[in-house]
Amino acid sequence: MSQKFDVIVIGAGPGGYVAAIRAAQLGLKTACVEKWVDGKGKAVLGGTCLNVGCIPSKALLDSTHKYHMAHEEFKIHGITANDVAMDVPTMIKRKDQIVKNLTGGIAGLFKANGVTLFEGAGKVLAGKKVEVSKNDGSTEVVDAENIIIAAGSVPVNIPPAPLTEGLILDNEGALNISETPKRLGVIGAGVIGLEMGSVWARLGSDVIVLEAMEEFMGFADKDVAKEGQKLLKKQGLDIRLGARVTGTDISGQEVTVKYTDGKGDQEVVVDKLIVAVGRRPYTEGLLAGDSGVELDERGFISVDNQCRTNVPGVFAIGDVVRGPMLAHKASEEGIMVADIIHGHKAQMNYDCIPGIIYTHPEMAWVGKTEQQLKAEGVKYKVGKFPFAASGRAMASQDTDGFVKLIADEETDRILGCHMVGGVASELIAQAVIAMEFGSSAEDLQLTVFAHPTVSEAVHEAALAVDGHAIHVANRKKR
Ligand code: FAD
Ligand code: AMP
Repeated sequence: MSQKFDVIVIGAGPGGYVAAIRAAQLGLKTACVEKWVDGKGKAVLGGTCLNVGCIPSKALLDSTHKYHMAHEEFKIHGITANDVAMDVPTMIKRKDQIVKNLTGGIAGLFKANGVTLFEGAGKVLAGKKVEVSKNDGSTEVVDAENIIIAAGSVPVNIPPAPLTEGLILDNEGALNISETPKRLGVIGAGVIGLEMGSVWARLGSDVIVLEAMEEFMGFADKDVAKEGQKLLKKQGLDIRLGARVTGTDISGQEVTVKYTDGKGDQEVVVDKLIVAVGRRPYTEGLLAGDSGVELDERGFISVDNQCRTNVPGVFAIGDVVRGPMLAHKASEEGIMVADIIHGHKAQMNYDCIPGIIYTHPEMAWVGKTEQQLKAEGVKYKVGKFPFAASGRAMASQDTDGFVKLIADEETDRILGCHMVGGVASELIAQAVIAMEFGSSAEDLQLTVFAHPTVSEAVHEAALAVDGHAIHVANRKKR
């Protein structure tokens, strides 16, 4: 007789493994199916995020930032660091070890919480059944009261730049380059393209980023995009906008990248090319013909705002559904859905999902941009505070960027926060919490921030909304 679970989760990325742990914590009999295997055929947990996404990319960004500091910035502090060198294989090995520890940790958490792991590929059948094609070749059909699909996403490949071992790489290949390329091409100036471009630019590569859109980071607040573009250019990233890649030629160990821009046909020769043109939902082999689960026109699984598909008892979360492809969005959806299955009235605040680019300085935001508010006809006020005026940022020699807070002109409620700064990824949480609690700019103005901290820039930006920042001239005309 087949086993029956309260919840079966398909996929053990940050959406799926979090959903499974939460469901098990709530006392639900829970299983998780994961098909990713390592070179030895052993199940790999953690999905894109832990294996080839958030964590390994941040490991490389951190190593290369330290190298850059030692190489370029220590001398400002009076520290002599001669013969600073980067051993790339050691950097990659450190990254791999972090990934190994973290993914192993998920297996431990599954055990501790009593989540049953099925190693194999899951397919949703009609009648809330999941067929598991196990790695050992056998097949089992498992019954469930509820199914949570968390199958994630895969990189988009484009015909002009087919992946080619060691030369044309997707984001996974980009994390395993074993020596610093002299010339590196990146297609796509999105989050992944800019992060990967930064890693190798810091190590000395000549990095050219080709971006089809005319506008740099059109998805972000204009002030952030402008500052980001200026600072990345200063760091040596050659970002070419309006440059659509049309083809590639390989000759020996070189790649000629052809693209068109406003001036016509162009080409550039590089030693490695990273394709970072986005990701798409991964649904191959996931849904049986009669499962009844509907996809939208872009291939995402259709869900409502509580991640319910059109089939009762079948939910979908994370990159495989609409919304930003972010690990924290996937995880929070996982928690929401597990809570709903347990009978809670859970709801997620989609207006309060932070986005971050981990370049240096980092870029981070939450809520509405000025452009969006203008388009919506909302009247707003803006407070901006530069890190160049922050004592702590000066002490840390990390003064690039600013915090920008936007509040409703009438109600003073915080509508958005956008920043560029050394630790923007940490600071943005303050704005997220404030917005989650429906705070006004005045609430932040009246909050005591420790001194000296870079967090004071958030306080000052809130004060600046009313022309009351202390450490910049911002008095409003009366
Ligand atoms: P995934 O992490 O893709 O996991 C899906 C899992 O499901 C996989 O393990 C897959 O093997 C499994 N699966 C699929 N189909 C089946 C099946 N039929 N049966 C069994 N198992 C199946 N996000 C951030 O928030 N911050 C960052 O800094 C960040 N950096 C990134 C850097 C890079 C280079 C990349 C590529 C991504 C980054 N992301 C980042 C995005 C983040 O990784 C994803 O948003 C996140 O992993 C999505 O989680 P998920 O659980 O929906 O899917
Ligand atoms: P993201 O989706 O944030 O990872 O960003 C991917 C970026 O790649 C987008 O800004 C796209 O405009 C860009 N892009 C997609 N196709 C091409 C192409 N053929 N040439 C150059 N840029 C591209």
